[in-house]
Amino acid sequence: MENKRTGKVINVNANMVTAQIDGFIIQNEVAYIIRGHERLKAEVIRVRANHAEMQVYESTQGLKAGDLVEFSNELLSVELGPGLLGQIFDGLQNPLPALAEKCGFFLKRGVYFEALGNETKWDFTPLVKPQDKVLAGSWLGFVPEKIFKHYIMAPFALNGSLEVISIVSAGKYNLKHAIARLKDANGHIHDVFLQQSWPVKIPIRAYAEKLRPHQPLVTKMRLIDSLFPVSLGGTYCIPGPFGAGKTVLQQLTSRHAEVDIVIIAACGERAGEVVETLKTFPKINDPRTNKPLIDRTVIICNTSSMPVAARESSVYTAVTIAEYYRQMGLNVLLLADSTSRWAQAMREMSGRLEEIPGEEAFPAYLESRIASFYERAGVVRLYGGDHGSVTIGGTVSPAGGNFEEPVTQATLKVVGAFHGLSRERSDARKYPAIDSLISWSKYKSFVKAGDQEKGRAILRRSHEIAQMMKVIGEEGTSLNDYIQYLKGEFFDFVYLQQNAFDAVDEATTEERQVYLLGFICGILDSEYKLDDKPAALHFFQTLRQLMRTWNCAEYNSPEFERTEEQIEIFLEEKKIRKAE
Ligand code: ADP
Ligand code: MG
Repeated sequence: MENKRTGKVINVNANMVTAQIDGFIIQNEVAYIIRGHERLKAEVIRVRANHAEMQVYESTQGLKAGDLVEFSNELLSVELGPGLLGQIFDGLQNPLPALAEKCGFFLKRGVYFEALGNETKWDFTPLVKPQDKVLAGSWLGFVPEKIFKHYIMAPFALNGSLEVISIVSAGKYNLKHAIARLKDANGHIHDVFLQQSWPVKIPIRAYAEKLRPHQPLVTKMRLIDSLFPVSLGGTYCIPGPFGAGKTVLQQLTSRHAEVDIVIIAACGERAGEVVETLKTFPKINDPRTNKPLIDRTVIICNTSSMPVAARESSVYTAVTIAEYYRQMGLNVLLLADSTSRWAQAMREMSGRLEEIPGEEAFPAYLESRIASFYERAGVVRLYGGDHGSVTIGGTVSPAGGNFEEPVTQATLKVVGAFHGLSRERSDARKYPAIDSLISWSKYKSFVKAGDQEKGRAILRRSHEIAQMMKVIGEEGTSLNDYIQYLKGEFFDFVYLQQNAFDAVDEATTEERQVYLLGFICGILDSEYKLDDKPAALHFFQTLRQLMRTWNCAEYNSPEFERTEEQIEIFLEEKKIRKAE
């Protein structure tokens, strides 16, 4: 190793610090600014001649020209190994509860922790023996972590065929204990530990091939699974105005989605919301395992009160951890809330670098950054033949709910499904507030394609008639159109709306969705001729009865709650219309 490379601070502009350096510098290298006994972490983001421009992950208050900078020779990396599950980290992978214990909820700067406990001993079982040939990412053995087998893999950074020189026998080892020794094609020897580190901005690619997403991811949310589905290994986004239900939707998904592991990147939300997450999440029960949900979750969170640079890194830390578990043949779901805050962090930093701004002052590389983030999703076939997947769902919170802004537009270009929330729906307390008229999905659902198309069509038609009725009134609408309109409303009430706070309604299994949707399509298909009173009565009664049985009573649906007299009047009106 070369000598420690250092530099001197010459300029401080909020979180951007410029240092003068002597030797070479690596783009995206981690540096530490030394201030008394504080060491402030920073990342080199631009090198110009003998100047390194760095973003500091901490408050830069009190820094001055002449302060010493040490360069680490390492890219910003994440520690990967057993012990990640159940943790709550900040964007630099400091465990937040440990931080809070030491410093209180107001974080001190320059305090860093080991991401994974070093003292813990893990029960290791080897899967290979000396002279075996392996590849980067091959499973060398495993340790139990919560309900999973946590595979210990040959370091992702190694190239080509590797030979196992030695491997420890089954037993308890801590993270810093070398458990195997590998020889690469050039004869270099590498020690393998239970833990390895990986640079967050580079995708882990230790697999045989990436496949097209083909298997539906069951979220148990009817509106999503039946109409606008997501695939395992796919990508989707949820744009919506403030308060439309993005966070609630993601929390529901984290509980009910049929995946092994959930990684939550809570990015730049208000500190209060994050503290709330920290307090409530560990208590949430996992309906799939009947154990704490946190046991198969990793949370990365950054509040809006933390420096922007740390906010930017949190989505990368999260996706790297997701890729790591995919290498173990698991299905991982990454939920990022909200990617707009991440984009804002990019904008702030770009501004300080005085780069030429693009649309709405976002940097010109906004689109490519968003694209390369979502591209890290996917289904992969591992060298051993197993499959794993990373699915990415990101919320977008455009100001004023305007989807024409750059972050929503850039995201739309790369994702496979779009769940647009509308203010109109959330104001009417129609949850989930996903607007079926603007949403779409390229993925295949597990419900019958015919049923899915029927559902979408009836909603479109019903909406058209509703718009028309706004102009010409209910009296002016033909009986046939009115029935179509009611069918759309009925479908929305009994099937698409789902009460997040009802133990039964909050999650609907695959079998149940297939059955229910088929059943409802039968009703939607039926021709109702309301020419006489018994027929009309029967129609309204059927729909009303179904709505009651399916727990829709609390939804405000006056159209269906008509008395016999009202129905009579309604029919009379329609008859007069017809005669005219
Ligand atoms: P956002 O993240 O879009 O700003 P939230 O997810 O925090 O919005 O939702 C705001 C409020 O809307 C919630 O506190 C809740 O009262 C209500 N809400 C959202 N989604 C649902 C739902 N599926 N069922 C019932 N209430 C909901
Ligand atoms: Mg929110």
